[in-house]
Amino acid sequence: METTTIECPKCGSARQERQTRLFLFLFLLGGGSCLIWLGLIMWPAMIAAISMILISPVVFVMPKAYKCLDCNHGWAEKQEWR
Ligand SMILES: [Zn+2]
Repeated sequence: METTTIECPKCGSARQERQTRLFLFLFLLGGGSCLIWLGLIMWPAMIAAISMILISPVVFVMPKAYKCLDCNHGWAEKQEWR
């Protein structure tokens, strides 16, 4: 298996962290669940809740996102199929 070094497109630094998509997924799902209860009192919250839950699986289709630890530049990985 070949490991490729990912470099920051802005400053060329090899120090970066992968943005975790699971956190975003749980945030959307958890936030949506809480808003559903709020939606019983205020109906606009229900619309927000349903849309948050509906878009949460989209997080897993998005390309991997990285953030540079040196210059704070954020970018998405290009999907290359070889
Ligand atoms: Zn950078």
